[in-house]
Amino acid sequence: MPLFDAHCHLQDARLLPHLDTVMRQASEAGVTRLMCCGSHEQDWPLLPDIADRFPGVSLSFGLHPWYIGARAPGWLDRLKAQLTARPSAVGEIGLDHALAHTTFADQESVFLDQIHLANELKRPVTFHCRRAWGRMKELLDEAGWPAYGFVLHSYSGSAELVEPLTRRGAFFSFSGALTFEQNRKGREALEAVPLDRLLIETDAPDMLPQAERACPGIIRNTGKPINTPGALVLVARTVAALRRLTLEEVAAITYRNASTLCVGGGQTP
Ligand SMILES: [Zn+2]
Repeated sequence: MPLFDAHCHLQDARLLPHLDTVMRQASEAGVTRLMCCGSHEQDWPLLPDIADRFPGVSLSFGLHPWYIGARAPGWLDRLKAQLTARPSAVGEIGLDHALAHTTFADQESVFLDQIHLANELKRPVTFHCRRAWGRMKELLDEAGWPAYGFVLHSYSGSAELVEPLTRRGAFFSFSGALTFEQNRKGREALEAVPLDRLLIETDAPDMLPQAERACPGIIRNTGKPINTPGALVLVARTVAALRRLTLEEVAAITYRNASTLCVGGGQTP
């Protein structure tokens, strides 16, 4: 029963020194494919080596709204160079209204530049969207939505938004946030998602699921629990229970959906 982690950050400094262990645990937990997302210019160069070392890793490069303040002139050209150097998707990019208002205009221009680039290169896109659902919809209804598929990673929008976003081409990815019973909004949204648009992810090393102690995928260094792709099965089990599916059905559906959003590379035999 292979699982596909639709969103993680293997290049993160909390995971990178432990990748041999992390990837062995992931494979023991059934996670055979992973989408590893670069978020800023300093981590992009780390990604190709990870994909070369571990089979099943697909790559995605983008400038995340948290890091736009540090971008240097020519960043979009360098992003394009990364994207054309090997098969890859665009992301993690997005809008984050938990950040200061003063960054919003800049966030939007960086976001739109990357969507235009994704469309030019015919690549799918992964979005980070926090407290900016209305604005994102307004902005992209005007500027155009990604034409080659897009993932709303760790979906935190409402159930009501699922239908209009589905019509615009969205895939909805659910993370460990769903494992918390009090996450009513996330669980209602999950109910509304068409099965052919459903994805699961860990967002490792963040988004630790509730049952972390029971999970074989979690490593501890510096005394703090760190989320790893091996924890994906906890998300898959939660989705299965909530959608009244078997674990095998959830694994197969989300694996198939995630495979359609990968650009070459990362295939397992
Ligand atoms: Zn992420």
